[in-house]
Amino acid sequence: MIDTPLQRGRRSELVNALIKKGITDKDVLKAIFLIPRHFFIHPDFQDFAYRDEAFPIDENQTISQPYTVAFQTQLLKIKKNDNVLEVGTGSGYQTSILVFLKANVYTFERIHKLYRKSKSLLNKLKLNPKEITWSDGYDLKYNKEFFDKILVTAACQEVPTHFLELLKVGGEILLPLGIENQKMTLIKRESKNKFLKKEYGNFSFVPFLKNKC
Ligand code: SAH
Repeated sequence: MIDTPLQRGRRSELVNALIKKGITDKDVLKAIFLIPRHFFIHPDFQDFAYRDEAFPIDENQTISQPYTVAFQTQLLKIKKNDNVLEVGTGSGYQTSILVFLKANVYTFERIHKLYRKSKSLLNKLKLNPKEITWSDGYDLKYNKEFFDKILVTAACQEVPTHFLELLKVGGEILLPLGIENQKMTLIKRESKNKFLKKEYGNFSFVPFLKNKC
């Protein structure tokens, strides 16, 4: 794994492009500048690693567009020591950004091959999450009210209520909601039984699916 001055230069251009699109969080921009996205990209798409685009990874899944990663991370205002649940590890790129921000990251992925690959890459980069699990998200064993933030990186047809129970009061879940196109939806747990929902534009994600494989 080599990171060249050319690749760093391209990352700097990517950061400028993200600033133009409205990303302002300095720590998020720093993470995007420092973390080599090309390590997470399929060899066929190496040359395009610093385009602001999603690309195919193995198993018909995608690595999210850098703007989407930056937008989701900025919106959640990730802080040091936040307990963050990431749903859908995929390539591990979003995970690496959350770990860089010093959150306690718990991430899970339903596809074994992606789980194995991401675990090994994050370990090589010394950007290890607290937990990386092969699971489908329907049998998570965390205590209720454990997480400050939940970041879903696969499209949900409806809000998975079992995730809401895992949020602390004051915590927030961000998820793409919808079937063909998704509305980025932020839900804040205002009190034990009160949830406040806000929408932030259209995005396109691979679907959230049942069962691990
Ligand atoms: N943040 C990732 C995006 C990966 S795409 C990245 O930047 O690479 C979304 C991922 O969610 C896919 O890898 C998919 O397999 C996974 N996924 C879909 N449904 C899931 C479920 N029920 N449980 C766990 N992972 C799931």
